[in-house]
Amino acid sequence: MNESINLLDFDEDAMTAFFAEQGEKPFRARQVLKWIHQRFCADFDAMSDLSRLTREKLKTVASMTLPAVTRDTAAADGTRKWLFDVGNGNAIETVYIPEDDRGTLCVSTQAGCMMDCAFCATGKEGFNRNLTTAEIVGQLWQANKILLSENVNPPWVDAGRAPITNVVLMGMGEPLSNFKNVVAALKLFLSDNAYGLSRRRVTLSTSGIVPMIDALKDACPVALAVSLHAPTDALRDTLMPVNRRHPLSELMAACRRYLERAPRDFITFEYLLIRDVNDRIEHARGLIELTREVPCKFNLIPFNPFPGSPYAAPTSDRLFSFQKTLMDADLIATIRKKRGDDIAAACGQLAGQVKNRVRYRLNEVSKRHETLREEKAKMCATKHRVCPSTLSVKKEIL
Ligand code: SAH
Ligand code: SF4
Repeated sequence: MNESINLLDFDEDAMTAFFAEQGEKPFRARQVLKWIHQRFCADFDAMSDLSRLTREKLKTVASMTLPAVTRDTAAADGTRKWLFDVGNGNAIETVYIPEDDRGTLCVSTQAGCMMDCAFCATGKEGFNRNLTTAEIVGQLWQANKILLSENVNPPWVDAGRAPITNVVLMGMGEPLSNFKNVVAALKLFLSDNAYGLSRRRVTLSTSGIVPMIDALKDACPVALAVSLHAPTDALRDTLMPVNRRHPLSELMAACRRYLERAPRDFITFEYLLIRDVNDRIEHARGLIELTREVPCKFNLIPFNPFPGSPYAAPTSDRLFSFQKTLMDADLIATIRKKRGDDIAAACGQLAGQVKNRVRYRLNEVSKRHETLREEKAKMCATKHRVCPSTLSVKKEIL
């Protein structure tokens, strides 16, 4: 087995290129994608529509390696949290949120996060590394597999669909800082030969890295959620260091550009309410002004506490007055239901285990994003000539 090629790292183009390199026809790539991502099979011997010869050859050149579940915790409301070992003492968390009409999986994209938002448990953990495509997609693979094995399936499973119907990239990490691996994972979530989810059922949440929002619009537009959390640059600068590089006017302009290609005709603005910091009526009025030109919906998130954090949740009076102010201005504003907070699975509480932390200064983070943008431009220029080796597991940091 060749440890460096993990078939879970390949989106459809990369898988097709890999099979061509092996002298195999493109339909073989589609067969293998379906075995892996629709039948949740990670055993070459079970792939019965491949010849024995092909199976033996595959075993010598590739593997199908998934992150392993090391802890499974269930909350009183049915929410589940899985801890995945991603090597070298690092672990990431994934949350399953069952609802009557859907099964949502909240997926992590990095071990830790380098964005250092003041209110976030993941940010406080620091950053270790980007997850590979296999580790991102592997969370969905494992969740589907585990839920199917438990035979307590929702009605849509009887109709032939997988238990997980919606994916939100809102777990640990900033997805747009891990652009290449995240885009390959998104393509697998959407591909009819893999998970076949509609673009509207896949949501990426970002802290607002402006150039990468544009890059996502061109590479793989899915539903977009933006973590806003403040109506002014002065306040947002103190909560989210990314704002010092990409201020609100630029962020609003990027949101408008994104909507030209987005699968939904609105941006979801997540707004975390922190007691006495950003929860007053004047803040809500500021938001109305700020987002005047952006078709949007608001999702209000009362701050979820975690050990050592200096902040508190707003009072319910403040929360509801805030919501009412937005709604009186004809904005849609929902309050995010708290799920799984008895097992620290609610927004911002995911900490996993982050070892060997790498600390970045803000200008280093921006430099990384510039490099990523250039890389992305090159990828577009050489479209359809994806070299599988560039997508295989890399031990580098970004
Ligand atoms: N990095 C991305 C996605 C992961 S964070 C982002 O920042 O958008 C997912 C959501 O949880 C974000 O809206 C984030 O601001 C929010 N969040 C972070 N810490 C929180 C906390 N303590 N309580 C409630 N929500 C929090
Ligand atoms: Fe990272 Fe998002 Fe947490 Fe900010 S809120 S530190 S971007 S995971």
